[in-house]
Amino acid sequence: MVPCRCHVLNHLSGAIAADYARTHLDDLGASGTGRTWECPDTGVRWSGEGLNGAGDTVDRLRRQER
Ligand SMILES: [Zn+2]
Repeated sequence: MVPCRCHVLNHLSGAIAADYARTHLDDLGASGTGRTWECPDTGVRWSGEGLNGAGDTVDRLRRQER
């Protein structure tokens, strides 16, 4: 279980972003050029961008403002 860091972090990149999305966040599906991810604990949403655009790999996560 990955500890939730959604209120601490604003950006993640590289393998850390991929791991965090896969192990902690729920995939809400493709949106525009990336995917939207949601934290099951806090409801924080993230924009994920991958090397394959809206594919399911994530190279960069950016926290969305609410
Ligand atoms: Zn979280």
